[in-house]
Amino acid sequence: MKSTFDDNQATKYSTDLAMRVYTSQLLGRDMDLVLHGGGNTSVKIGDKIYVKGSGWNLDTIEEPGFPGVDLQTLIQMAKLDTLSDTDMVAQQRNALEDKNSPNPSIEAILHAIIPFKFVDHTHADAVVTISNTPEGEKRLQELYGEKMLLINYVMPGFVLAKEVYEKTKDIDWKSLDGIILLNHGVFSFADEAKTAYEKMINIVDKVEIYLKENARVTTLNFGKSFCKLDESFTDELQSELEKLRGTKIIMKFGSSIEAVNFSKLENLDDIFKNGPLTPEHVIRTKPFPAIINENIKEGLDAFISRYKKYFKTHAKDEIMLDLAPRYAIIKGVGFVALGKDEKEAGIIFDIISHTISAMTKAQNMGGWKSLKPSDIFDMEYWELEQAKLAKAVS
Ligand SMILES: [Zn+2]
Repeated sequence: MKSTFDDNQATKYSTDLAMRVYTSQLLGRDMDLVLHGGGNTSVKIGDKIYVKGSGWNLDTIEEPGFPGVDLQTLIQMAKLDTLSDTDMVAQQRNALEDKNSPNPSIEAILHAIIPFKFVDHTHADAVVTISNTPEGEKRLQELYGEKMLLINYVMPGFVLAKEVYEKTKDIDWKSLDGIILLNHGVFSFADEAKTAYEKMINIVDKVEIYLKENARVTTLNFGKSFCKLDESFTDELQSELEKLRGTKIIMKFGSSIEAVNFSKLENLDDIFKNGPLTPEHVIRTKPFPAIINENIKEGLDAFISRYKKYFKTHAKDEIMLDLAPRYAIIKGVGFVALGKDEKEAGIIFDIISHTISAMTKAQNMGGWKSLKPSDIFDMEYWELEQAKLAKAVS
């Protein structure tokens, strides 16, 4: 991964906020760093922090996408013992410079406690791919050494901010190149926009090279019987899915060589038991796909009973979401993204293309191991994520 920072272009941006917009867009335009609304960035100016607002995507963000929040209010919030989601959102809104702004990102408190002007957060594929393997933490430790702070997975939002606050209370921040949130993503930071951005690129470049050397796919175990994709197959698939979701379904097929090979793997159930690429994907894709091997109805029924079981195991007082898969792996064919419109199908298609690529690489590094089912459930049913989805879709 190479920096796309253009010094000539950067001279056009005379304010810190304009520079913040520029490098946020650079990060957002690289799909190996963030996908569709993923990631967030911030800049501290005076006694305010301007942090990505809910509903904005980094690739197209502009200045109004960075609500200004009172910095000290956020820093004090990290010192609380507990804070409910409702209180967090309310207190952040109270501390807004302009009450008409969107809600600041759920990671606003974490951005606030990092004592550098520019803070960048992505879900870089290469970093989470290594992290999502059984020896991931050890591999990352060896790669980066002391200069990288590794944080075990905890729920994003207040809990994560609090964890980082506790872990960094006695640390010399200048000794750190960045923070890796295991199974989730990366933070980089600096007092210059260009430095923060290029630190991110360097962190990711290092693991991309590592993956090229260590995750060459040589041996994969394939099953035997596969589906045949013809008109009657796709018609039946579409009609069954429309019945399940109660609306029209747009299907977008992924049939790259990588996707076809992946679909033939024998251990798909095991792989998907072990979580998404990065936690927030689950609100778009559900925790696992339908796996279809010759018989469509059988594949969909298996998905439904698996989802019901997952819900029953982890639900406290939540209401179950619909039972329609958001994508299916079709044995021998690849995958199909299932959206209620072109936009949703496109978002799911991109997420699953990147997920399959990461999962394939992980097969040669000991397998795939991301979040526990209970963590996946907490993310899927987290009110703040469901609110974000409702806003983004409407
Ligand atoms: Zn994140």
